[in-house]
Amino acid sequence: MISDQLIADLKSIVGEKGVIANPDELVVYETDGLSLFKHKPDLVVFPNSTEDVSRIVQKARQARIPIVPRGAGTGLSGGALPEKGGLVIATTKMNQILEIDLRNRCALVEAGVVNIHITNAVKKAGFHFAPDPSSQPVSTIGGNVAENAGGPHTLKYGVTTNHILGLEMVLGDGSVVWLGGKTQESPGYDLRGLAIGNEGTFGIVTKVWVRLTKLPQSYRTMRVAFSSVDDAAKTVSDIIASGIVPAAAEFVDFVALDALRAAFHLQIPPHTRALLVIELDGLEVSLDRQAEEVRRICERNNAIEVLLAKNEKERTALWFARKRAFGALGRLTPSYITQDGMVPRTKLPQMMNFIYQTAEKYGLRIANIFHAGDGNLHPCILFDERKEDEVRRALEASTDIIRKCVEMGGSVTGEHGVGLEKREFMPFMFSEEAMNVMKKIKQVFDPDNVWNPGKIFPPNDSHRPEITGKRKPAPM
Ligand SMILES: Cc1cc2nc3c(=O)[nH]c(=O)nc-3n(C[C@H](O)[C@H](O)[C@H](O)COP(=O)(O)OP(=O)(O)OC[C@H]3O[C@@H](n4cnc5c(N)ncnc54)[C@H](O)[C@@H]3O)c2cc1C
Repeated sequence: MISDQLIADLKSIVGEKGVIANPDELVVYETDGLSLFKHKPDLVVFPNSTEDVSRIVQKARQARIPIVPRGAGTGLSGGALPEKGGLVIATTKMNQILEIDLRNRCALVEAGVVNIHITNAVKKAGFHFAPDPSSQPVSTIGGNVAENAGGPHTLKYGVTTNHILGLEMVLGDGSVVWLGGKTQESPGYDLRGLAIGNEGTFGIVTKVWVRLTKLPQSYRTMRVAFSSVDDAAKTVSDIIASGIVPAAAEFVDFVALDALRAAFHLQIPPHTRALLVIELDGLEVSLDRQAEEVRRICERNNAIEVLLAKNEKERTALWFARKRAFGALGRLTPSYITQDGMVPRTKLPQMMNFIYQTAEKYGLRIANIFHAGDGNLHPCILFDERKEDEVRRALEASTDIIRKCVEMGGSVTGEHGVGLEKREFMPFMFSEEAMNVMKKIKQVFDPDNVWNPGKIFPPNDSHRPEITGKRKPAPM
């Protein structure tokens, strides 16, 4: 229950405009990128600093309400939704790049800084922030840290955790801790690593030391068309088996291509069933030889067209199909679930067959646009949210696909996190003992389970941490 006193207290910290309590305005915060689940918060508050966050958390703690961190709300697993109501702390006003230290190749940023803004700030000096989720023009660094986000170029460069040196976090009693720091190594347990991917269940990240990476000297970007999904999928593992690690190897299948044709009149050979966008980067001197080898591997796998960009304009054009594919799906469907699973990349051909069989079984279309180099699948299950039976079939198809990913030695999520959407799938992958270890770790950071309750652990799990009300709040 939200009291007028709590609203007044929060306004005294962040100002009148820094608190949303009006139910009509709160509707904006009842969903995220997933859109299937809706949970309206009781309050949303917009702090300007770590000090604000600490004071807000103390007030929420006194009121004994759940607290849910939120960045840009692009998450695709329902992580930022307050299933149990309570307070959402949105970091969007904490958007300052506080320090850029090129000599040490790092920068200190607030949690609400948008991913691409870091690269924009340093690219003239020849650097970038390597993790590049496709949401990078919008998603925040705090959200990227919380989800351990990946992206097209994480095949070569690694995911978010490989680019975070340290983070500042506000815990449930309002205390502020630094995990890791500016230097690469810190002694003791790797708490920084432990906290990355916690999905807002430990506390709220307020500042981050990010690693800056030199921009590659040169690129070779290829777009390759195949008349068979199997051939395209096999090409990806053949390239990596040859010893070449592309910066990116991205996959767009025939369903997504239908959408791209409808939306943008995409010009591709008529019988194309799959496109690969393959990008090599590194020293100019090494790239022609690698590109030639990649071309040979594609041709051995029956490629019907291999295009190589000759300049930056052509590079952008070849990426177009991949970058616009998710948006184009709107031409085929009112709604879709972007699933996120992982398989060893050699299993891609089998997994793709299984996905198409699943589509047939449930009478649905499934488009596939994904990071093939990592084996990180994104089957987009197309359905109409207004038709109850289609929603049911879409959810059942999702479950079958994720279960199969695990059976093939993969994972229930590649990069979108567990949130609300995947929590039932966790026992597919983890034993009870392993889940208990996770719960104990959560309790160490958040003994009263005030942070993002209900996420990650299955809802029917009797051991799932809940706000019990048994513990006394620590003195403020
Ligand atoms: C079109 C599109 C493309 C996408 N492409 C990719 C992709 O290529 N790779 C990828 O990994 N993801 C992708 N995503 C998913 C999403 O963008 C990422 O998970 C991103 O990291 C979420 O950031 P956000 O700021 O929007 O976080 P939100 O959606 O606001 O929150 C996500 C989770 O992080 C927690 N959180 C947010 N901020 C904080 C904080 N400061 N402290 C603690 N916890 C916090 C929330 O509680 C929630 O659990 C995509 C999404 C869309 C819509």
